[in-house]
Amino acid sequence: MSHDHDHETNFGSATSPLAARVRAMEALLIEKGLVTEAEIQDNVAYMDSRSPVNGARLVARAWADEGFRARLLSDGKAAAIELGIDAVASPELVVVENTPDVHNLIVCTLCSCYPRNVLGRPPDWYKSFEYRSRAVREPRAVMREFGFEPPGDTRVAVHDSTADVRYMVLPIRPPGTGGLDESELADLVTRDCLIGVDVPRAPSAAQA
Ligand code: FE
Repeated sequence: MSHDHDHETNFGSATSPLAARVRAMEALLIEKGLVTEAEIQDNVAYMDSRSPVNGARLVARAWADEGFRARLLSDGKAAAIELGIDAVASPELVVVENTPDVHNLIVCTLCSCYPRNVLGRPPDWYKSFEYRSRAVREPRAVMREFGFEPPGDTRVAVHDSTADVRYMVLPIRPPGTGGLDESELADLVTRDCLIGVDVPRAPSAAQA
């Protein structure tokens, strides 16, 4: 079979057994006419253009605009599209809101389901067996290892993602951020905050 073009850019470790398997499957799918090389490249480009910045923008807008917050909580996908994020292909996106009473933590116990159409690829630890099993069994211990733990009287709710439903956390707006504009607010929201292993903190300069 002719296979002389270069796939190096698709895979970080092009020599690993997994990468070799993926290349073989890709070649077979192309040969069978099920996908084209261009479609695969388009897909890679699409996924590369997703990022946690999208989630941070959604959170910052929700903090700044009560109406948007309500729409984000009732239909995350529609709210993302409203903000110009191309989430049309996304499975249902459920946004869960942290409150003083409930802290939310996202996991996929089965594999690595994640709101990729909005946030891009999940971090490697999210896919690890250790995180997938321990997030459910001992969520507080896991969060402590990330350097954060909710107050003792806050209930921890763990959400198990599936192929059909992806979750994202809407964190609490940190106190002392009243003077920040939406883009400054978005800068406080990291990927880990959107998964729930951390929370946003006010920059020290903003703490009055
Ligand atoms: Fe999964």
